[in-house]
Amino acid sequence: IEPDPQAGAAVKAADRAHVFHSWSAQGLIDPLAVAGAEGSYFWDYDGNRYLDFTSGLVYTNIGYQHPKVVAAVQEQAGKLATFAPAFAIDVRSEAARLIAERTPGDLDKIFFTNGGAEAVENAVRMARLHTGRTKVLSAYRSYHGATSTAINLTGDPRRWASDTASAGVVHFWAPFLYRSPFYATTEAEESARALQHLEDTIAFEGPQTVAAIILETVPGTAGIMTPPPGYLAGVREICDRYGIVFVLDEVMAGFGRTGKWFAADHFDVVPDLLTFAKGVNSGYVPLGGVAISAEIAATFDKRPYPGGLTYSGHPLACAAAVATLNVMADEKVVEHAAHIGEHVLGPGLRELAERHPCVGEVRGLGVFWALDLVRNKETREPLVPYNAAGEANAPMAAFAAAAKKNGLWPFVNMNRTHAVPACTVSEAEAKEGLAALDAALAVADEHTA
Ligand code: PLP
Repeated sequence: IEPDPQAGAAVKAADRAHVFHSWSAQGLIDPLAVAGAEGSYFWDYDGNRYLDFTSGLVYTNIGYQHPKVVAAVQEQAGKLATFAPAFAIDVRSEAARLIAERTPGDLDKIFFTNGGAEAVENAVRMARLHTGRTKVLSAYRSYHGATSTAINLTGDPRRWASDTASAGVVHFWAPFLYRSPFYATTEAEESARALQHLEDTIAFEGPQTVAAIILETVPGTAGIMTPPPGYLAGVREICDRYGIVFVLDEVMAGFGRTGKWFAADHFDVVPDLLTFAKGVNSGYVPLGGVAISAEIAATFDKRPYPGGLTYSGHPLACAAAVATLNVMADEKVVEHAAHIGEHVLGPGLRELAERHPCVGEVRGLGVFWALDLVRNKETREPLVPYNAAGEANAPMAAFAAAAKKNGLWPFVNMNRTHAVPACTVSEAEAKEGLAALDAALAVADEHTA
């Protein structure tokens, strides 16, 4: 690829003049101008190529520019580029069938949205209408999206500025042994105490007021905390006992990320509603949705469902989903993600943790890994304070800069870096990523004490 810094400068100038970016102080950002992407890599206009250990925003599960998915979108555009949601359209029917075939249990009806936040909004609406109750319980250390209800459910600082419409949202602590909110020392203890805490929360809120509990099956942005054995089954049992709808948010964890089609498959648990987006079509065209149990779907058999979207089940998005799901099956992408986790990323990251004083814990599965960076392994003090900015965040900024200098685009959140490449990442690419992380962690080591 021929570098073209002038073209890059023009792209950047127009961006800075007219594009208003997410989550950012507009005057303080300096977005990289990207010229192209393929597979696990993208590149800029100056001749720099990066191994993408973020999969965009953890969504390009099949990598960039998969030729079969690109062709399917092109073909669909030529055939029927768009059509309103009230009609039966072949590619929409097929996408729904393929998704329903893969979702756990009897989650066989699919309501399509444009992304994850809308999926969460609609799951909550369904749960409230189904139960006739209003409250929704969600976890601290979670992310559920940036629309009104979804941001209020979110358990991270991005909620704070939008915490104005939280009527009915109650937060609780989910298990996280490394930083246990329950002073637990074993997984069994953490699981039992977290379940007791949830029971107590429900008791004090009034079980008859709680419509739903929503959890990320494996919390993503908040730190990839795989729940301890028994926890999700315990939540399922609590929901059944009180008639509460159990929603699993698989927007990030779904579609191969954890080395199974859905993270719920690791825990033998079937929710009543499952939200998805991202990996369903690797984001080639925006798509999300809610997979609905037979019982909740039946609520709306004779009673109209009061929700909808102009682009629900958009043909281009559905064509991308059909092609993506077929590619994932044909190329055994989910099995590959499990293999990379078990044999390359897992062992490789643990080996880095042994050598680097800044790595407090390695956790994850599939192509879904977090390194919890610390100032001190004994005290587990985070490398930077919670929600640090500016000078206080300098150690993480130095880590990220070092990774980029070594050709790796890193995922950074708080005191963590996540290794979340495409599910299609090759062994050689994963090893290249580990080597770049090794160099960047050496920079973070300088900030330990
Ligand atoms: N839920 C989870 C678990 C997510 O990780 C995200 C996005 O990162 C969302 C919901 C929101 O999805 P979207 O950004 O497509 O609205």
